[in-house]
Amino acid sequence: MLIRRAEINFGDLVDVRIASGRVAGIAARLQARSGEAVIEAGGGALLPGLRDHHLHLASLAASRASLPCGPPRIRTAEELAASLRAQAGSDGWLRGVGYHESVLGESAAGAIDRHWIDRHLPARPVRIQHRGGRLWVLNSAALRTLGVSDAGDDPFERVEGRLTGRLYDNDRWLRQRLGRQRPDLADVSRHLASRGVTGVTDTSPDNSPAELLWLRQAQQRGELLQDVLLMGDASLDGCAAEPAEPDGQLRLAIGPRKFHLHEPQLPEYALVCAQIRGAHAAGRAAAFHCVTRAELVFALGAVREAGSRAGDRIEHASVAPPELLDEVRALGLSVVTQPGFIAERGDRYLEEVEAADQPWLYRLRAFLDAGVPLAGSSDAPFGTPEPWAAMQAAVSRRTHAGRMVGADEALSPEQALALFTAPLDAPGQAPCRVETGAVADLCLLGAGWNQVRADLGGVKPRLTLRAGQVIWAQ
Ligand SMILES: [Zn+2]
Repeated sequence: MLIRRAEINFGDLVDVRIASGRVAGIAARLQARSGEAVIEAGGGALLPGLRDHHLHLASLAASRASLPCGPPRIRTAEELAASLRAQAGSDGWLRGVGYHESVLGESAAGAIDRHWIDRHLPARPVRIQHRGGRLWVLNSAALRTLGVSDAGDDPFERVEGRLTGRLYDNDRWLRQRLGRQRPDLADVSRHLASRGVTGVTDTSPDNSPAELLWLRQAQQRGELLQDVLLMGDASLDGCAAEPAEPDGQLRLAIGPRKFHLHEPQLPEYALVCAQIRGAHAAGRAAAFHCVTRAELVFALGAVREAGSRAGDRIEHASVAPPELLDEVRALGLSVVTQPGFIAERGDRYLEEVEAADQPWLYRLRAFLDAGVPLAGSSDAPFGTPEPWAAMQAAVSRRTHAGRMVGADEALSPEQALALFTAPLDAPGQAPCRVETGAVADLCLLGAGWNQVRADLGGVKPRLTLRAGQVIWAQ
């Protein structure tokens, strides 16, 4: 393939030849060879393919086939009730996603439970996931379907011996009971390709060899178009040594072991330290979910104790006050953040997060200034899988309502792009470049960089290539 008059490196107009999955030549002018497809770029920017460095493929695919139960689509109890009632006509399981306590206006005294769902949709088994991903709420029909009763021995919450329908931190139990239903990834993968995404890191903590096999087969079927770096639990340790693709391309590789820290129930410190050492001994880095200050303190302490390794990373780093940021740098950790949350959740943060922590929310510039490798991601389905909107938020730091969160943390458009263009296995390191010999993971825009940099949120790539293959064309 020959791409004519494309802009690379934010300004050079060149012809780019792609052959055998790689960039085979770049020059001011290249002659088309017979049989070669020619694409006229018309000065459009040709960028490295984007990488979403933190998302959850299976949940994302499932959520796109699910009922929205929270903001922005559903904001009030009445809206949620009406939306559930409208589902009474069909049967079988109903899966709701994105619930947030603001919908029911919950207080500490009362949260959504089986009885609330029963009032609006008693006839079908319903399960609704909280936006944070750690809580499922099932109605009574769903509990019956799963054989769960007040007297049962299962991980569901009980208050005074009665089931509330709430299940915390136990996706695995639910999945086992429901039977493993693997969602089709084609729709999600095509969507990501349409945004220019050529690689993703799946950060689900309980990924195992079963998920590795499923994703590999989805790639082989052509259903999953992106490269994948797969985080997961210790059961993936032995898989780390699997041979790479014959051409040395990433395709599907094992990533860090994921540690899911959760402030109300932090794991035993000594155990985590031992597990970090175990991951390192198995040749894997460690990645820590840290959305609160306490979780970050815990993770940093454990890494200090166990020792750090190249590739160790902090996911989210949602609250990073200066002294902890210094520690992140001193330990050589990378940070994988979600700038899109500033837009999507910023209005809530401004109301709910303690004033003292507000300046430290989803920091960007401070990490770069400190020399901490910083990468971007969506955390989809908990954030929207829209990398360009996330870049826009990294530049503007504006919420949906237009309010500013941490103006000092704003990035330039080029810095925002770089969050999404580093290799999957080196988030926050130097971005990939469009250069001869590089794997042809590319994304062609409809206009030059100078034009699009002012409105990154509006970017719609024309063409996306993974290893030289077209995975999206507008
Ligand atoms: Zn996540």
